[in-house]
This record gives sequence, C-alpha cells and structure tokens, in this order.
Amino acid sequence: MGKMVNRSHVLVVPLPGAGHINPMLQFSRRLVSKGLKVTFVITEFISKSRQLGSSIGSIQLDTISDGYDDGFNQTGSWEPYLSSLHDVGPKTLSDLIKRYQTSSSPIHAVIYEPFLAWALDVAKDFGLFAAAFFTHACAVDYIFYSVYHEVLKVPVSSTPVLIEGLPLLLELQDLPTFVVLPDSYPANVKMTMSQFANMDKADLILINTYYKLECEVVDRMSKVCPLLTIGPTIPSIYLDKSIEDDDDYGISLSEIDASLSINWLSTKPTASVVYVSFGSCATLSSKQMEEIAWGLKRSNFHFLWVVMDSEKGKIPEGFVEEVENKGLLVNWSPQVKVLANEAVGCFLTHCGWNSTIEALSLGVPMVTMPGWSDQQTNSKLVEDAWKVGVRAKVDEHGIVKREEIALCIKEVMEGDRGREMKMNSKKWKELAIEATSEGGTSDTNINELVAMLRSTK
Ligand code: UDP
Repeated sequence: MGKMVNRSHVLVVPLPGAGHINPMLQFSRRLVSKGLKVTFVITEFISKSRQLGSSIGSIQLDTISDGYDDGFNQTGSWEPYLSSLHDVGPKTLSDLIKRYQTSSSPIHAVIYEPFLAWALDVAKDFGLFAAAFFTHACAVDYIFYSVYHEVLKVPVSSTPVLIEGLPLLLELQDLPTFVVLPDSYPANVKMTMSQFANMDKADLILINTYYKLECEVVDRMSKVCPLLTIGPTIPSIYLDKSIEDDDDYGISLSEIDASLSINWLSTKPTASVVYVSFGSCATLSSKQMEEIAWGLKRSNFHFLWVVMDSEKGKIPEGFVEEVENKGLLVNWSPQVKVLANEAVGCFLTHCGWNSTIEALSLGVPMVTMPGWSDQQTNSKLVEDAWKVGVRAKVDEHGIVKREEIALCIKEVMEGDRGREMKMNSKKWKELAIEATSEGGTSDTNINELVAMLRSTK
C-alpha cells in the first residue's frame, strides 16, 4: 500500500514495560510503513529517564503519567504501581487526546494494551475506534477469557484441564500461575481479568501471534470476538525485510552497550553459545541463581547471560573469574540481535511471550525455566505443541538444580532430540516469515486493520 498524505492518526498505548513496549512499538512501525501516522504513548518517567525526544524514527512520542514521574522502586508487590497507574493514567490520557482533538492532527483511533482496560473507556468517551492489542499468546488469552466467563473455575484443582481450541491437555504446572494460585497475585489477577470486563466495547482484538502457530485456538477465540493475528512483531529485517533500517525495537529501558554482546558472539563458532535471559522483571532466588551459574559452567558451552543490576548480588563468589574464558555476563542485551546471531545455539529462557515468539521467529531452540504468569503455558506449548524446546524440571523445593540445567542444555545443543528441535525451529521461523510477508496471514490482517483505520477518518 502506498503512503497517504492526509493520514489517519493512531494513538498506541502500551503498558510501560519492555515486554509490552517492544511488540507495540514494532507494530506501530508496521502501521507507519503502511501510511498511517502513529503517536506512541510512554510514561513521563520513561521519557525523562531514557532521554527520549518527541519521536523515535517515524513514530511520534507523547506521554501520560503513571503517578511515578520520578520512578517506581519495585520491591515485591506490583499493587501500588498498578493502582496508581489506574488512578492517574485515565485522566492524563484523556487530557492528551483532548489536546490532539483541537490540533491539526486529531486522533482517529486508539490501539491499547487491554491490561489498561481504562484506555478503552477513555477512547470510547471520545467516540474513537479502539482495538485491543494482546501481548500474550492466543492460548493464554483464551485461558484467561475462559476464567473470566467462568468456563474454567479457579483456583483449578482437578487436572488435566481440557480447554476447547488448545492442542494439549494441561496439568497444574502448565497453567498460568494466576489461574492456579489466584490469591498469591491479587493485583495481577485483577488486571488480567479486567482485560475482558469491557472487551465487547472494543472494535477489534489484535493478537501478537501468527495463525499457523496457534490456528485451533485462534479459530476458537474468533468465534467469540473479532480477532486478527498480526505477529510476530519483531523487527522486519528478521522477517519479511519490508521496512527500511528496522533491526531493533528502538526503546531500551536499560543502559545497554549492544556492541559488547555482538562483538563477543562474533568470536564464537556457529551454534556454540547458550544465551540466557529471564526477561525484564526477573527476580530469581539466590539459590536458583547459584544453580544456574554452576549449571552453565558444568554444561561446558560458551554462554552469554543477562544478569540485571538488581540481580548481580546473587552471582556466586568467584564465578565470574572461573568462567572468564567461557562466559560473558551483561546487564541487558540487544536480544533479537543476539538470537539472530549464528553463534547462538540455544536459549535458556523464562518463556515470557516476547522471548518465546522471538526465539520461534529466529529459529532458536529453547531450554525453559518458567517462573510465573503465562510462562508455564508458553513453556508447555514450546515443549509439546511446537516441539522446539525442553523444560528443565524443578526439585521438591521448586529449584532447578545445576545437573538438570547442564543436562537440558546438552540435550538441546547436541542430542538427537536437539537436532529434531532445530529442524522444528527452522520450520516455525519460515512460517513466521511467511505470515508477515506480502499476502501472508498477518500481513493481510494488518492491511484489513489499516483499511478500517482509514475509513474511521
Ligand atoms: N529483552 C532485551 N534484552 C534483554 C532481556 C530482554 O531486549 O537483555 C527484551 C526481549 O527481547 C523481550 C522483552 O525484553 O522483547 C522481554 O519480554 P518477555 O515477554 O520475554 O518477558 P517479560 O520481561 O515481560 O517477563
């Protein structure tokens, strides 16, 4: 589709975290490449602390407040943050839209993260077209939808659970933690369920997945809402290559020296490195960090391990010196660039949805160590539906021991099962490219969305 001069203006509103900003920013780039104007909304704090200007490439930036303009010191519970975001966010979003409505570039539509269900209410107060952008797998969204509508009763006590549209029976360890232990995460459960409370007011549901990856559950969920799969939302250079200079998500919430990881990887042979990351809010126990450290050493492969500053104190004494020639520890990595590097042979991951779909799209097999939220279900799909990884087993204290970590890494890096996983990974990568290329399912769906957005003008 060619560029339009008089463009529809879309406001994109993510939850302020890497796992939400990354896919929605990348999706915004696709919309801009199809001729729309996009304003991407971040918080005052992110704007100030990352010194972001008024735009990032062709995407305009603007801000709302979460009530923590000088930063939120996360210690344990998310309750105060989420409650503040819910109290302050709607008013500041409303003010922002008001400002545009009296300008030469009024907003025509809002694409919002449904964890911020209030953004839909604000959009509808202005009579705007609104689409929810789900940042989890469709399988997980449908499980939560089933919980909201009490088709699946929580806490789940009897297993296995069969959910229509899901390709597998689920045991307790495969279900999202919010479904198994709802009382342990009250604020997160509240936010997760709120996604569905006003969903029928949304004009469209967008899901960051691709059709062939989750066809049965996409078909099932499409029966209850107007749904379009639009993923994977990783930079176009790794998929269809249709967007110029698009090799990075663009906003990094941490200080990063990208060249450090990439230069180090460039000295390593093909498929010889284990990449290790537990996402943007990893808080593993000291015991678990210790087991990971010695498990990596025991595996005897090269490794690149992301250990955020808040986790550094949990690295066992003497470890860094002992593995000097084998491993590199960084506080943040350019993850998609790392996964795309041919030196990487395996990803030891917490199975956050972005990490999972990035690994699938870049053809990297996984060792999974899910922690909470949707990670258990993603891990089950990785191992048993898509067959591109192996889940490391926990002991009776919930810890994955060093022997198990080393064993799983070896299995993926060099065993017969590993070879099969590599072949399957290659298949899912090709299907991700097919989905986003011209005429593919996601590309066709994005064109459909763009046509709708243009007609809302
Ligand atoms: N990420 C990154 N560098 C890192 C670790 C993570 O760029 O060192 C990115 C990763 O590519 C992904 C996001 O942060 O896009 C993490 O999202 P995910 O859903 O995997 O996990 P979450 O942080 O939400 O638990």
